[in-house]
Amino acid sequence: MPLPKRRHSHTRGAKRRTHWVLKAPELSACPQCAGLRKPHHVCLQCGFYDGREVVTPKTTR
Ligand SMILES: [Zn+2]
Repeated sequence: MPLPKRRHSHTRGAKRRTHWVLKAPELSACPQCAGLRKPHHVCLQCGFYDGREVVTPKTTR
């Protein structure tokens, strides 16, 4: 197992973590029910994709 010879400085670790950015999930409006839906995904509210019902959404839980 390779072992690091020296520990990284705080600045070096912080510089690497500058790329740790969370971005909000991209959501677009569903053309069927006008709810929010991920692009290129089946709508979870109405189960429609590309103008037809692909899955039946769970109504009772
Ligand atoms: Zn929908």
